[in-house]
Amino acid sequence: MTRQAIVVGAGIGGLATALALHRIGWQATVLERAAELGEIGAGMSQAPNALRALAELGVGERARAAGVPTDASANLRTPDGRYLQRARPGDPRPLFAFHRADLHGVLLEALPAGWVRTNAEVTAVRQDATSGTVICDGTELNADLVVAADGIGSTMRRQLWPQAPAPRFLGRTAWLGVAEMPGLPGSVTLGPGGYVLIHPLSRGRAYWAYVTTARAPGIRYDDEKAEVARRIGSWHDPIPALVEATPAGAVIHIDIHHVDPLPTYVRGRVVLLGDAAHAMSPDRGQGAGQSIEDAVVLAAALAGEPTIEDALRRYDAERRPRTQATARGAGKDGQRLTSQVAHRAIVTMLRMVPAALWRKGIAADGNATWRWQPPRLPATGT
Ligand SMILES: Cc1cc2nc3c(=O)[nH]c(=O)nc-3n(C[C@H](O)[C@H](O)[C@H](O)COP(=O)(O)OP(=O)(O)OC[C@H]3O[C@@H](n4cnc5c(N)ncnc54)[C@H](O)[C@@H]3O)c2cc1C
Repeated sequence: MTRQAIVVGAGIGGLATALALHRIGWQATVLERAAELGEIGAGMSQAPNALRALAELGVGERARAAGVPTDASANLRTPDGRYLQRARPGDPRPLFAFHRADLHGVLLEALPAGWVRTNAEVTAVRQDATSGTVICDGTELNADLVVAADGIGSTMRRQLWPQAPAPRFLGRTAWLGVAEMPGLPGSVTLGPGGYVLIHPLSRGRAYWAYVTTARAPGIRYDDEKAEVARRIGSWHDPIPALVEATPAGAVIHIDIHHVDPLPTYVRGRVVLLGDAAHAMSPDRGQGAGQSIEDAVVLAAALAGEPTIEDALRRYDAERRPRTQATARGAGKDGQRLTSQVAHRAIVTMLRMVPAALWRKGIAADGNATWRWQPPRLPATGT
């Protein structure tokens, strides 16, 4: 008998999960509250761990074709434009940069038609020993498993993990944008109290983000573009031009929150995945990547274990330590990279690191997060 899942949320985590379930021969319905799955968000990068997970989902090539290799972790600069580390022609480029909508589109196109329902907000969830139930548009829907991929503000987490604290503001805020600017190399520019990230995107576009500290969440400006230009408009080229070339209404301003570590990602037949389980500071570019890993591990466990309960136990045991360690590391990086006090020490340290050593650290197998290998999926569904 074909197993059925309900996936709540059609972000990158939810779509990756539906695809992973498809590959192991399950049926899934993805319920998304938004009216449309459109050109959402700005840019992001995916590291070798996530690119391997995408390959296991059968979309590795399509994802690479939608992205652009980026030198962001190789080109480190100071606001006056000097290089602390610099990419050389021919260096390996294990990081790929995407417009979020492009990566999302790759996952969506790989799903069977009709699996994603928009305008479908889930308002309640219940579970018992053998199934999960959600309420959507006043209708009860029942399945062998409910995957809550409903993001950092997860309704599912609030209902089934009532003791869990609300997402915590990390004291940082970010402005993001996408502009038409072909041929830009990726880079990170470290200023006192904040940094600017640039990634090249497909179709001649570039993504930029400025991350800095904020004393409270919710501080907003009448003209966000003017505000970010005021802060980084005197930094090296092409930063001022990139901000200037971004349509004013398209500058996104977002406060950084995370989900404190949960003691379990599983309640009976409901499982948390992606930001709903472990939203993290963006400074390692791993949030969506971890959700893609979650999807592959969940499907491998469902395909490989004798019961759904065993599979969920395995998912929880494998994913909590990794995602929570990644979130911890990202949080610390974010704190250091936006610290006025640590800035000088970081710049001095990066200037002194021999170029060969830095390159080794940013190679595809250069760090534990990037070295991760996905479990194999049996691919019975495609
Ligand atoms: C500034 C910034 C930069 C980042 N850069 C990177 C990066 O470079 N690389 C990377 O890997 N990650 C990055 N991330 C993190 C990444 O964006 C997230 O980790 C990722 O998008 C989470 O995906 P998700 O599917 O879990 O959640 P979401 O993308 O939040 O999707 C959740 C979906 O659920 C829907 N939903 C919510 N509630 C309901 C409901 N009740 N019923 C139905 N639908 C519902 C929402 O509408 C949404 O579509 C960054 C994050 C930030 C803030």
